Amino acid sequence: MVKRNILLNPGPATTSDTVKMAQVVPDICPREKDFADLMKKIRQDLLKIVHADYKKYTSVLFCGSGTINIDICLNSLIPPPNGKILIINNGAYSSRAVEVCEYYGLDYINLKFPIDELPDLELAEKILIENPEIKLVYSTHNETGTGILNPIREIGALAHKYGAISVVDTTSTLAMLPIDMEKDNIDFCMASAQKGIQAMAGLSFIIGNKEIIETSKNYPKRSYYCNLYLQYEYFEKTGQMHFTPPVQTIYALMQALKEYFNEGEEPKRQRHLRTFEAIHKGLEELGFKNAIKKEWQSGLVVSVIYPDDKNWNFENIHDYCYNRGFTIYPGKISSLNTFRLCSLGAIDENDIKNFFKVFKEALISNNISIPVIYKGGN
Ligand SMILES: *Cc1c(COP(=O)(O)O)cnc(C)c1O
Repeated sequence: MVKRNILLNPGPATTSDTVKMAQVVPDICPREKDFADLMKKIRQDLLKIVHADYKKYTSVLFCGSGTINIDICLNSLIPPPNGKILIINNGAYSSRAVEVCEYYGLDYINLKFPIDELPDLELAEKILIENPEIKLVYSTHNETGTGILNPIREIGALAHKYGAISVVDTTSTLAMLPIDMEKDNIDFCMASAQKGIQAMAGLSFIIGNKEIIETSKNYPKRSYYCNLYLQYEYFEKTGQMHFTPPVQTIYALMQALKEYFNEGEEPKRQRHLRTFEAIHKGLEELGFKNAIKKEWQSGLVVSVIYPDDKNWNFENIHDYCYNRGFTIYPGKISSLNTFRLCSLGAIDENDIKNFFKVFKEALISNNISIPVIYKGGN
C-alpha cells in the first residue's frame, strides 16, 4: 500500500492504488508492437470519452504536461497566409494561450473579459464580423484559476458561423464533465492524463478533426517537436509516437481508462459534484466566501477569498494540512487573494469531511476566528 494523500490542488490528481501500481511493469522498448497496440487502444478510448466518431476524429498523444497541447494547437493550426486567432480570455489559462501566440509571433486578438465574469458573446461576434481573417477561436472550458465554466458550445457555434475552427482547452473538464465533440461544436480539445482521467503526469493528448489535421500538412511548421500534423502522421504510419513516449505513464493511463469506463461518465460526474458540494458545505460552515458566483462555477474548483484575519497565513494553513496528507492550493487571481479547493481526482465526499476536520484544526491552532471574518462582513 502507498500512503494515500488527498490532493485538492487542480491536478495532478489523487490516483487509485491500482493506477499507481500499473506503472510497475517489466521493461519494454516502446518500439515493440505490444506497446504500439497499447497506444492504439488508448487513442480509441480517448475518443469514446468525448463521444467522437473515429471516422471523423482522432486523438494524438504527446509527451509533456497539459500546456504542451496549448502550444501545439496554436502553432499548428493557423492557415497561411494571414490566418488570425481570436482568444476568448477570462482567466489565467486563456492568458497562457495569449503568451503562446506572442512567442510564436502569431496574429491574434486577445478578447479580454474580467476574470470573475462570463465572456460577452455579442462582443465576440462583433469581433468575428469585423475580422474575417479569424480562422481559429480559442477558449477555455473550465478556467481552472477561478473555476468559471465557459459557454464553449455557444462559442463553437459562433466560430463555425464565421468560418473559424473551435479549439477548446478542456484540460480541467475532460472525463469529469460530459463533453460531446459534435454537440459542443468542438473541432479540437485537449487534456492530460493527470487530471480528469486520474492517471499520472507526463502524457497529454489532443482530440480533433482528422480532415483539418490533414489539411494542416501544408501549414507553416513552427516547431520541430510540437507539431500536430507531424505527430499525427507518425502515429498513422507507424502506430508510434515520433520520439520516446513516457512508457510507464502510459501503462498507468491504460489502467485509469479502464477504471474510468468501469465507473461510468454520469456516476463519475455525480461523484465530483458530491465532492464539490461537500467543499462548499465545509467552507460555508466556517464562514468562508467564494470569489466566483456559485451558478457560474464548473463544479470542479472553488476559489476562496482569504479572510481578513491578522493571523491568516496561507502557507501556515497549507503546511498544517500538508503534514496530515491534505494538499490545498494558492489562487490564480491577481487582483484578489484567494486559495483553491478542487474536486477532481479519485476522491469523494468523505475525504472532504476528513479534510475539514484537519482544516478546522489548522485554523484553531493558528488562532484564526471561526467563523472567519471579512472586513465588509460575511
Ligand atoms: C492544468 C491545466 C493546464 C495544463 O497545465 P500543466 O501544468 O501544463 O499540466 C492547461 N489548461 C488548463 C485549463 C488546466 O487546468
